[in-house]
Amino acid sequence: MPLSSGSGTARAPRISSAPGTFAREKASKTVYIAGAGIAGMTLALALARFDIKVVILEKNPGIQTEGAGLQISPNARHVLNRLDLDAALQQTGFEPQAIDVYPFHARKPLISLQMGDIANERFGAPYIVIHRADLADALHAACKRFANIDIQFSIRSFDMQTHARGLSVTYELKSGDYITARPFAFVGADGVHSPTRTQVLDGPAATYSGYVAWRALVPVSLLNSLFNLERTSLLWAPGFHAVAYPHPHRHLMNIALFSREKLNRRTRVKHVEAPTIPETVFSSPRISAILAAAEAGWQKWPLYAVDTPGWHKGPIGLIGDAAHAMLPYQAQGAAMAIEDAGVLAPLLARSEHAEQAFQTYYRLRRKRVQRVVRISATNGVIYHAGWPLTIARNLVVKLQGPTGHLKRLAWIYGHDVATDAQ
Ligand SMILES: Cc1cc2nc3c(=O)[nH]c(=O)nc-3n(C[C@H](O)[C@H](O)[C@H](O)COP(=O)(O)OP(=O)(O)OC[C@H]3O[C@@H](n4cnc5c(N)ncnc54)[C@H](O)[C@@H]3O)c2cc1C
Repeated sequence: MPLSSGSGTARAPRISSAPGTFAREKASKTVYIAGAGIAGMTLALALARFDIKVVILEKNPGIQTEGAGLQISPNARHVLNRLDLDAALQQTGFEPQAIDVYPFHARKPLISLQMGDIANERFGAPYIVIHRADLADALHAACKRFANIDIQFSIRSFDMQTHARGLSVTYELKSGDYITARPFAFVGADGVHSPTRTQVLDGPAATYSGYVAWRALVPVSLLNSLFNLERTSLLWAPGFHAVAYPHPHRHLMNIALFSREKLNRRTRVKHVEAPTIPETVFSSPRISAILAAAEAGWQKWPLYAVDTPGWHKGPIGLIGDAAHAMLPYQAQGAAMAIEDAGVLAPLLARSEHAEQAFQTYYRLRRKRVQRVVRISATNGVIYHAGWPLTIARNLVVKLQGPTGHLKRLAWIYGHDVATDAQ
């Protein structure tokens, strides 16, 4: 089965063997991963602990630091802690004391979900917020400590063939040279527009969700009178919502606004001067303050999602956004990618055939991920509701109370995938 991906040229490839791959395969397994993002690097770290040789093929010249903040929930933190990332995350991440939810125009939170020590006690690990670049740096620094993890940057394209003897991967370096190898498995961790999914596995293209995110980083000094800097704030408004939390060691506040917008064709992230959001939203003092503070420093981020019926074919599989990109309204996309890595690594290590590992991984992960996808989409409807639905919504939220709400989310935050892998 010939398979191909990337923007490879038509000229005849100059093929050489990847250093050590053929010779070492007899002694230990080699796994190739496309993408040095959160999913790819977490998987590499998890595999390296089983003495598996890992080669990551990344198209960019370095680790991607685009984007702003991420909330990393306890379920993801369990996996990261087992990879010895605890100290690095403590250094640059921040543990908000609570998530405060403000309906439109509310001066006080409708509900405050206690995090901090309470999240630690209840879910066995902390809830933190962290700049994406700090998480990427922590993962990259950890990868560099393993001699059996090799990250190849500036990869132009990769091709694959499965045959009776297994899998062959050929990839093109920046120099134009081609390298070929025969790994045990290939994992596409190449994000929402994954070429592994669309070109190698003939899977679907990602579809535009109808929502855009507007992201900005603002000096904390400009917002500290309206926001509690010890907490995450979630602001609900008709047709719109916003999330704000601090990155204290950078003296910045992370802001993400979300609204609906029609897009005519596939648009990538771009810098914009101001979000195009409903005028009515400006009457909220907190949102006006955000808009004034961010000035012209916004990134417009169209939100794509993908529902892939299968996550593997033979020895080739998908993890993270490549398999199941979702709306970020439960802040779980990266968390699910990290969980995927935590489940897949021991399966690849223990299985004689990569396909067995991918089959079990899919069986263990699919239902949980789909449930998270659904709750994320439903949150969009709840957060953006307009009057009179807001009356019923606010009443239900109030009646449920913070403890009831945390209990309702325990299946997400309180889960440790180590129990799945066993
Ligand atoms: C506004 C917003 C807010 C979010 N907030 C949260 C949050 O608070 N918490 C949370 O858990 N999640 C959040 N998410 C979701 C999270 O960002 C993603 O789920 C996560 O980044 C997915 O990681 P990944 O490694 O699968 O993909 P990516 O991070 O996209 O990494 C993919 C990697 O593959 C590389 N790549 C792509 N194509 C190729 C190729 N052809 N060859 C080689 N390499 C390639 C890319 O360069 C990149 O390095 C948010 C998302 C958005 C948009």
